[in-house]
Amino acid sequence: MQVLWKTTLESLREHISEETFQSLIRPIELASLEGKTALFRVPNTFHGEWVTANLGDVISDALCAAAEDLGREIPRPLEIAFEVDDSLMDRFEIEETPAEPAKPARASVAPSATPSAAPRLNAKYSFDNFIVGPSNQLAHAASVGVAKAPGSRMNPLVICGETGLGKTHLTNAIGRAIYEANPKARIIYLSAEEFTNEFLLALRNQRADEFHQRFRRECDVLLMDDIQFLAERERTQEVFFHTFNTLYQEGKQIVITSDVYPQHIPGMQERLVSRFEAGMVADVQPPELDTRVAILQKKAEEEGIDLDPAVADFLARVVKNNVRELEGILIRLAVKAELLGRRIDMELARDATRSLIVEANNTATTVEDIQKAVCAYFGIRLSDLKGKRRHRAVSFPRMVAMYLARQRLGTSFPELGDRFGGKDHTTVMNAVRKIDRLVEESDEQVVASIEAIERRLGF
Ligand code: ADP
Ligand code: MG
Repeated sequence: MQVLWKTTLESLREHISEETFQSLIRPIELASLEGKTALFRVPNTFHGEWVTANLGDVISDALCAAAEDLGREIPRPLEIAFEVDDSLMDRFEIEETPAEPAKPARASVAPSATPSAAPRLNAKYSFDNFIVGPSNQLAHAASVGVAKAPGSRMNPLVICGETGLGKTHLTNAIGRAIYEANPKARIIYLSAEEFTNEFLLALRNQRADEFHQRFRRECDVLLMDDIQFLAERERTQEVFFHTFNTLYQEGKQIVITSDVYPQHIPGMQERLVSRFEAGMVADVQPPELDTRVAILQKKAEEEGIDLDPAVADFLARVVKNNVRELEGILIRLAVKAELLGRRIDMELARDATRSLIVEANNTATTVEDIQKAVCAYFGIRLSDLKGKRRHRAVSFPRMVAMYLARQRLGTSFPELGDRFGGKDHTTVMNAVRKIDRLVEESDEQVVASIEAIERRLGF
């Protein structure tokens, strides 16, 4: 087994960068190879899932090839499975800090959060690498304002928006800018969850006083991420309320983020909500296409990835609602391209986004979108499409629209009946079947119109 894995590693190493090899491949080990399954030991579940999803094929190919070189037949395709082995965490440690080999394994610290010297901020996030567009302009301007003059006009600053849209990034950027302008500023950055845990720990150790001292007396800027975690947590809300008041009265800046508007956080005390609303509430929305393209380009530049504008445009069109996902897909593509020794081209990009495209279409397109596209294509009115007239000029488009909605969105027959002006579900079923048959017979008119309408809908 050892020899087989060693040979595989050698061949993998030839095809991938040293960095990828060290960070992704080196920490794993081949445990066994039985039947069609190669079982690996991995440092944690996340690593295992990531490697299986992104490098599974490459590893399996290299393993088969290495086995054949060693005169052993392995059935293809090989399946990759993994089990978690904590002791492998050490390998990250040794790699990252070669000078101090005997450090204990980091268990609870997220590997991505690189704490900076004084405040525990993520060094990756600054205003410099935040792309501004209409979707986040207000939140960005408010953040810059707060960073320039903490504790003055916009207090507290509340940044709201769905996950993956840059709240944590902006919050860290504020902290960093304040720290750079004034290294003596006592800045605390933490999530509401950490705040809660630290408070509970302090209580258990009878150190509540120390806790209050730290947050109320030894803090000039409090940056609290993901305040929605305080939902229904009355006791922590109580503590936070007093912390908030003390800081606020002393003109200390408070920044909080939330994935919903504070008034929509379940079980959030009214008095806290009204404190938040008295400050500056700015939201972040999903970025527009141009902003998404710019974010991708920035990220590619930072990571030294050679990104073709056409590919950037394609990726930005597919991933719309979450910047984290957008970045994730770029990194995955880069790793894959490197492993395969080729450029990130459209083919690779399409491959990597195939499942996303199906998902995006299912969620983005509605029955109404289909109805409108059909009407536009055939030049008829929506009221006629939903009406009862049986003239072929309207009945044919109607059937096509029902068919598309059923095929593409999986809408039920009774629901489609409702959406088409209250028709019986059997009428819908017959219409869908009829078009289905015509498609199967490759009826030219039907196939051509369906293709054209699907293009309009971006399928
Ligand atoms: P949130 O806290 O809102 O869930 P994050 O701040 O963690 O989102 O952002 C997710 C990822 O997307 C981060 O890597 C962040 O750097 C990146 N990101 C989000 N918005 C932007 C932007 N406008 N410009 C550059 N990077 C962004
Ligand atoms: Mg966040």
